[in-house]
This record gives sequence, structure tokens and C-alpha cells, in this order.
Amino acid sequence: MSNPEYYCGVDIGASATKLVLVGDQGQVLARALRHSGFDYKNTARQCLAEAQASAKLKGRPKRTVATGYGRSNVDFAADTRTEIHCHGAGCFHDIGREISIIDIGGQDNKVIHLDDEGKRIEFKMNRKCAAGTGAFIEEMALRLNLEVSQLDGLAGSTAEPVRLGSFCTVFAKTEILSHLREGTPVEGIVRGAFVSVVERIIEMDPLEGLVVATGGVVAYNPVIVEILAARLGREVVVPMAPQFTGALGAALTARKLATA
Ligand code: ADP
Repeated sequence: MSNPEYYCGVDIGASATKLVLVGDQGQVLARALRHSGFDYKNTARQCLAEAQASAKLKGRPKRTVATGYGRSNVDFAADTRTEIHCHGAGCFHDIGREISIIDIGGQDNKVIHLDDEGKRIEFKMNRKCAAGTGAFIEEMALRLNLEVSQLDGLAGSTAEPVRLGSFCTVFAKTEILSHLREGTPVEGIVRGAFVSVVERIIEMDPLEGLVVATGGVVAYNPVIVEILAARLGREVVVPMAPQFTGALGAALTARKLATA
């Protein structure tokens, strides 16, 4: 067992808790992911134990920063930072240039614009409703009697999306039920739901410049990224661990605070 100095970032999202450990050069040592559940404090502790075990690290992290919806519940975190700050820091570390970030999470979408030094120029957050978020996709899966993990394969197997007029989760549910009654192929309905997610994102922001996509929805649904790229007519970059960028940014912030 080695015992180098290391730093921890925890992102307690409404759906998933992500944890990243980085070393003294900012290199990623371990990641852990769990459903956030209802006991955020314990979920964060379990993620830390799992990541420490996988990287064979002893002792406590030198410093921990918590972010996300449940960030105030992490009892081993010395500091908290906003999701906007941490997503920006994590993405800039990976990409290192001027970017427009779109994060598609379980309950909200965020657009963050960074300049070529990683400074935040502007951000937008959609927290008003589930439209265009992971929650919308999960609801569609439920209505179609599918697992969320099946959606991407189905959406990728057709080029013909069904047009869903309603983006509100409640109305889209009714629309999907009537499509099923009419015998519409399920692949087209799923692709239509993905197109709806992309349209909600484009409505939020024109996404100029180099676009970087992150978040759990992006991690598990590459077809959404393909649809977004086709809609923008440009490449969309996905970092190596897109669901962990907030936790990475938190860990890098912890390192920065400890070494300042
Ligand atoms: P948050 O930070 O809001 O908790 P995340 O960015 O971690 O959200 O993304 C959570 C979303 O990722 C879920 O709402 C779901 O849409 C998607 N997701 C999580 N696990 C899976 C999986 N195994 N298969 C497909 N999608 C998944």
C-alpha cells in the first residue's frame, strides 16, 4: 500500500454521486459512482472508501471539495463549490481552451461558457422542469417498459425519429401512449425523445465555438451527442469520463486550495 498525498472531489447529484481522487500533479487516481439515494452523507463515504480501495490509498485525502445538489452533506469535505464552478474547472482541465459546455444531468441542464484561460464568461441553468434532462429520458423508458440502458441502442437503430410535439414530460407520456396504441415502432419513439432532448438544449443556448458535452445522459447515450452534432453541423467533444467532470473539477479545486 502506498500513501501519496491526494485530493478528493465529490459531486452529489440528485440522481448519482460521483467521486474523483487526484494526485499531486492533478492526475486522476480513482473514480467511484453510486446512486445518491436518500442518505447523501453515507453515499459519499461509501464512494470514498471504494475509490481509496481501488487506488490502494491509505489515510484521508489531504483536502476534499464537495459540489452538486447535496454538497452540504459531505462531512469529510472542508469546502463546497457550485456545480458551475466545478464543471467548468473539470472540463477546462481536460480540454484547455475556449469552450461552450453543455452538461445534461439527471434533473437539470447547464450551459457554461469559458474563455481561453478557463474563466467563466456566462452560464445558464434549466431547473424549472424535467424537459430535456435525464429525468425526461427515464420517464420515457418507464412508459415504454424499457431499461434506460436500452435506449441508446434503440435510438441508434433507426434514422427516423417520431416527432414528439410535447416536450413536457407529462404531455409526452400521453403522446407516447397514443403512438404505442397506433403501433409506431419503439425505436422511432426513443429517437424522437432524444431529438426532443437536443431541441431543449438548443433552445437554452446557441452553443457557439467548441462544444463539449458532459453529464450522465451524455455518458450513457452517445446517440444524443450524434444528434446534437448533426443539429449544430459541428463536432461535439466528449471528455473521457463525461459524468465525472464536476467531481474532477472539485478534486482539482481541493488540490489548488491545499497548495495555495
Ligand atoms: P446528476 O448529477 O443530476 O445526478 P448525472 O449527470 O450523474 O446526474 O446523470 C444521471 C443520469 O444519467 C440519469 O438521469 C440517467 O438518465 C443517466 N444514467 C445513469 N445511469 C445510467 C445507465 N446505467 N444507463 C443509461 N443511463 C443512465
